[in-house]
Amino acid sequence: MAESAPRKVDMEKLVSLCRRRGFIFPSSEIYGGLSSCWDYGPLGVELKRNIKQAWWRAVVQERDDMVGLDASILMHPQTWEASGHLGGFVDPLVECKSCHLRWRSDDLKGDKCPSCGGELTEPRLFNLMFKTFIGPVEEEASVVYLRPETAQGMFVNFENVLNTTRKRLPFGIAQIGKAFRNEVTTGNFIFRCREFEQMEIEFFVKPETDKQWFDYWLEERLNWYVKLGIKRENLRLRQHTKEELAHYARECYDIDYLYPMGWAELEGIANRGDFDLVQHAKSSGKSLVYYDEETKEHVVPYIIEPSAGVDRTALALLCDAYDEDVAEGEKRVLLHLHPALAPIKVAVLPLSRKEPLAPLAKEIYADLRQQWMVNYDDAQSIGRRYRRQDEIGTPFCVTIDFQSLEDKQVTIRERDSLKQIRVPIESLKKTLAAKLGGEDLFVLPPGGSVWKE
Ligand code: ATP
Repeated sequence: MAESAPRKVDMEKLVSLCRRRGFIFPSSEIYGGLSSCWDYGPLGVELKRNIKQAWWRAVVQERDDMVGLDASILMHPQTWEASGHLGGFVDPLVECKSCHLRWRSDDLKGDKCPSCGGELTEPRLFNLMFKTFIGPVEEEASVVYLRPETAQGMFVNFENVLNTTRKRLPFGIAQIGKAFRNEVTTGNFIFRCREFEQMEIEFFVKPETDKQWFDYWLEERLNWYVKLGIKRENLRLRQHTKEELAHYARECYDIDYLYPMGWAELEGIANRGDFDLVQHAKSSGKSLVYYDEETKEHVVPYIIEPSAGVDRTALALLCDAYDEDVAEGEKRVLLHLHPALAPIKVAVLPLSRKEPLAPLAKEIYADLRQQWMVNYDDAQSIGRRYRRQDEIGTPFCVTIDFQSLEDKQVTIRERDSLKQIRVPIESLKKTLAAKLGGEDLFVLPPGGSVWKE
């Protein structure tokens, strides 16, 4: 696949924009931050909410074969024995004998410390799960783990969902939630965090149909990113080699995004076979099977798992949307975010902050706020205010000028094309609603669904 045109954003620029405008802050910054933990600020939280809403809409709301779940983060410790996480969820680590930095040995190119060139120890296995205690006594018997993935909550609820929803195969469970990993290699901003959010699907199918459903979800998930506006040339599919396959997987593909540091995993799609249900049935003593009324047989469903990260999607969207150009004779930074993802949909900008414009502008602001996240900005020149909105990806600015008092019209200015149109205040909401997308919020660009590599 061809490399894309030279990127206008490097990670430093993006981190700085996110910090400066209130998308993302280092966690506990006043104490110097906490390694690989991040706080989403006023704009970041909106972006994240919009991503999750778009995902939920696509995989639950618009489908009749999917239902949602919100399982607890703390799970019975036996879960992690059955899943293989207690035994297998480990990274081999080496430590530098001089500077004592630790490295993932499978990431290293040579046999010396990448930081100081020092000698390294033999690899040691390190479990990535965070441990904590349940109840008042800190003893081995009360050890629980912060879940390293949301998936297990869906496997252990398979029977509950089956019995309460009366779904038949194939059907899926979707869940969005926090996951925790004591990652060894960290960095690259929100790409690899120790606390992050996942959007996972566990899709249960008849064993003989696994290949067909695996291919289906691969295409479906790839298309989703394109519908969000991510450029096709910045996405690719990468098949896991036999050596790379996780212990539970029969087949696995990553959807990679071309981040500023290079191609890296945005979402993983795995055919987990019957591994999880068999393991949990063994460990719990419950029979986790499905009765197929057509064949009158009991089967253990196979599971297709598309597993995405909210944070990595946010990072991909920000990288992809970032642009610099010249508008109205001035350099500007802008985010070409899809209107449905933009944190703020509309900014209301009165030309003057005094009477009689302010009351009219405030009235419009109050009205639009009923429907969307809206900013009100009356500070500095109109050009500066447009720049501020462009930089956070606000698709539309509504300007109220002195003429508005006479003709009861306002100007809508569009972020990407810079086009301006004059509309009656009366129909402003309707015009904006049409522009912000109604029924078909996310559509594929022409040819967008062809995913042959
Ligand atoms: P990597 O190889 O990059 O460590 P992984 O293969 O361990 O990722 P999965 O276990 O497949 O990741 O998790 C599914 C998804 O969860 C990933 O595609 C990613 O979007 C997200 N994810 C996993 N680990 C992290 C992390 N430390 N920080 C942010 N997101 C993560």
